[in-house]
Amino acid sequence: MTVHIVVLAGGVGGARFLRGLREETRRRYPDGNGNSTARITAIVNTGDDAWLAGLRITPDLDSILYTLAGVNDEGRGWGRVGESERVSAELREYNVGWPWFTLGDLDLGTHIARTSWLREGLPLSAVARRLSERWPIGVELLPMTDDEVETHVEVADDGTGTGTRLLHFQEWWTRFRAALPAVRFIQQGLETSAPAPGVLEAIDSADAILLAPSNPVVSIGTILAIPGLRDRLLAADAHVVGVSPIIAGAVVRGMADACLSAIGVQTSAYAVARHYGVREDGGLLDGWIVDDADSASAGELSAIGLPTEARPLLMRDLDSSAAIAGAALDLSLGRRL
Ligand code: GDP
Ligand code: CA
Repeated sequence: MTVHIVVLAGGVGGARFLRGLREETRRRYPDGNGNSTARITAIVNTGDDAWLAGLRITPDLDSILYTLAGVNDEGRGWGRVGESERVSAELREYNVGWPWFTLGDLDLGTHIARTSWLREGLPLSAVARRLSERWPIGVELLPMTDDEVETHVEVADDGTGTGTRLLHFQEWWTRFRAALPAVRFIQQGLETSAPAPGVLEAIDSADAILLAPSNPVVSIGTILAIPGLRDRLLAADAHVVGVSPIIAGAVVRGMADACLSAIGVQTSAYAVARHYGVREDGGLLDGWIVDDADSASAGELSAIGLPTEARPLLMRDLDSSAAIAGAALDLSLGRRL
C-alpha cells in the first residue's frame, strides 16, 4: 500500500520539513533503491511570487526545489549554492528590477525557463513539474494555484499621517525587513483564484495531511485562503497535523512575528494552534506538535481537545528534521490506522 502524504508548505520552513519527511519516508517505506514507496505531495504557497525584470519569480517553490535537489545555498538560506551575480550587476546599471532583491545568475536560469514556458501557455503547475523533472526530488510540487495571487502589505504611512500605502510582500519583507508595521495583508487575485489541478484531488486521497512549520499568515494562511481549499481539508478523511513554527514564543528563522501581530495573533505555539483551530470546534487541526520549551501549552491544548505532543522542533540537520516529520506523520496516521 502506498502511503500518500500531503504537506502545506511555505519556503524555508517548508523546504527543511519536506527534506526531513522525504528522509523519514525513505527509512520507513524503503523501495530497495534508496527511495521510498510513499507519495509526498507539497501544496506550496505562491503568494510571494512577483514579476521582476520581465520574469516570473516564485520564491517558495524555488526554495523547496533547490533544497530537495541539494543545490540550495545552505549558509545564506536562499538561492543556489556557488552562485554568481554578474547579470544582476548589469540589470542594476539599467535600473531594471529591484536593487534590493538580488537574482543570482543560476537562479535567473530557472526564472527564464519558467517564464518561457509560461509565455508558451503552460500553467504554473505544469511549469513546476517540468522544473522538478531536472532533479529526482522525490516530492510532487504543486503550486497552491495556477492563478496569479500576490500578497500585498498595507503599511501605515511613514509619519505624515496621510493614510496607508500598499507594498508588494517582497518589498515589505526583503527591503524593509518587515520593520514597517503592517496594518493588514491583501491577497490580490485571491477571490477569483482556484486551486491548481491536482490540489483538491491530493487532499481527497491523502492518508496524512501535515502543515509544515511555515509562516502561519503569509505561507499557510495564504494557501488556506484559496477558495475551496480549506473546506476540502475539513472534509478530508486524513487527519490534519501541524508543526509549530514558533518555539518558546519566538520565530526560528525570519520575521513571522511581524505577520502574526498584524492579524492579532500572539507569537506562541498555543496561539498559532488556536488560530488554525481545533477540529472539535470546527477548526482545521486534529493534532499539533510543539517544542519541548512549550510543553505547558501541550497540556492546555490537549485539555481543549487538541492532541498535542511536545518534542524538540529545531530542524538542525537531516536527522532532527526527519524525527520531527516522523512525529507529525505518526500523530496523523496513528489515529486512523
Ligand atoms: P519562508 O516562505 O521562507 O518565509 O518560509 P516558511 O513560510 O516555510 O517558514 C518560515 C517559518 O519557518 C518561520 O516562521 C520560522 O519560525 C519557521 N522555521 C524555520 N526554521 C524552523 C525550525 O528549524 N523549526 C521550526 N519549528 N520552525 C522553523
Ligand atoms: Ca515565502
